[in-house]
Amino acid sequence: MRCEHCDQGERVPVRRAKTAERDGKVAVVLDVPMEECPACGDRWLTRDVAARLDTMLSAMLSGDVEIATRHFDEPARPAA
Ligand SMILES: [Zn+2]
Repeated sequence: MRCEHCDQGERVPVRRAKTAERDGKVAVVLDVPMEECPACGDRWLTRDVAARLDTMLSAMLSGDVEIATRHFDEPARPAA
């Protein structure tokens, strides 16, 4: 699919990390599936992926861990 942003590249499926910060805490979700334009670097997430990512990041940021990392495909981890 052609990039709507720059019209120079074809969007390709990639997996990237997404990071969020709140109140001095950092949450990192690895291997998030998305499409990326190799020309301008613009990225697109599907609605489902964005919703799941948002839920994961919120849960991680509300925990006690200063720096939390998870894989996108990983099932929810029981509280340690
Ligand atoms: Zn582009």
